[in-house]
Amino acid sequence: MDIFFEGRPKNITLEEVEDIIDFCIKKLIPELYHGISIDVSFSNLKAQKKEGYAFCHDIDDLMFDIELDRDLSRSNMISTLCHELVHIKQFARGELCFLEGNEILWQDNLYNFDDMDYYDYPWEWEAYGREVGLKAKYLEAFNN
Ligand SMILES: [Zn+2]
Repeated sequence: MDIFFEGRPKNITLEEVEDIIDFCIKKLIPELYHGISIDVSFSNLKAQKKEGYAFCHDIDDLMFDIELDRDLSRSNMISTLCHELVHIKQFARGELCFLEGNEILWQDNLYNFDDMDYYDYPWEWEAYGREVGLKAKYLEAFNN
């Protein structure tokens, strides 16, 4: 796996961010671990008036980028990274695919952003659900 950083987070080291990504990808998609490439950028998302503190994009087959707010606390940064890495698992396995317009293919079912609220997206249930367990396991494994 390749990880590239742009910018720096305020409350966590890049070494720890790398540990978290490594831990989660090995747990979530061990079979794809060696082919994955992730660009991680830290910026002031609030100043850019973006909604939300993190974004994840599917650039190419196994290439992804994650944008994170650099001001997140260490604890929030760990949760948020775990959450976004679940989306990378969904993209990498072909479970989640953004189509033309506002359509989304999730586990072979078609959804439309216009018909739903954020918290009703089934891919978000998985990301919110799994971020809790991933974070707990990461903290346990790294003893902090
Ligand atoms: Zn999400």
